[in-house]
Amino acid sequence: MAKRILLKLSGEQLQGEFASGFDPKRARWIAEQIKPALSSGAEVVIMVGGGNYVRGNQIIGHGIQPVSAHNIGMLSTLMNAIALADVFNDAALPTRALSTVEINQFIDQYTFRRALSHIKKGRIVIVACGTGRPFLTTDTAALNLALEMQCDVVIKTTKVDGVYDKDPAKFPDAIKFDRLHYDQILTNPDITVMDKAAIGLAAEENKPVIICDLLTDGNIARAARGEIVGTLIS
Ligand code: UDP
Repeated sequence: MAKRILLKLSGEQLQGEFASGFDPKRARWIAEQIKPALSSGAEVVIMVGGGNYVRGNQIIGHGIQPVSAHNIGMLSTLMNAIALADVFNDAALPTRALSTVEINQFIDQYTFRRALSHIKKGRIVIVACGTGRPFLTTDTAALNLALEMQCDVVIKTTKVDGVYDKDPAKFPDAIKFDRLHYDQILTNPDITVMDKAAIGLAAEENKPVIICDLLTDGNIARAARGEIVGTLIS
């Protein structure tokens, strides 16, 4: 049983059935998925992505500088964190959103001690703005946060039920891995389920990462209990 989990939610998952933006129905469903994990004693830290609004790389050019583009990407995660925290609190899941970039008018600033204090009070902590630095992704930020917050495991939820040797949506003969060593991902350019920088950080610090399907009922709680779901990278 993992005591403290880092859950990475990408923007794509928060857009739910919509073409972009934030789907409150999906957010509420995620809240219900987290509840059993909390009641079985897990502590939950969440890193949110922003791809449902803007990924930095998509808007670089025509005068938009890379740093500005990534800053806008981080602001996308901020919108998700604000909305997600509201939906979670409304669903009776005590939650606080914190931002690694100072924007106190909107949400409190992330500090290690503040996040820990919320966690110790039984609250979920949602972290916005990734690392607060451009040219990175929220996958890498998730690993970094998991190390800082001493999370036992990182759970990244996706659209498919784990890691495959090729895209299962395109190739019916794709083979799913139940377990992978960090090196198998680092050396395989076809596996893009998580940034290499994030996997590299996980490998260096021996932090286990679980990749599993968000929409399979009970997956998050099972992964938090240490049951085998999706693909375990260790
Ligand atoms: N981003 C950044 N630094 C970080 C985290 C994110 O600059 O530490 C920017 C980056 O441009 C990224 C965007 O924020 O594309 C949104 O994050 P991400 O692409 O990881 O979102 P996801 O794909 O998980 O929805």
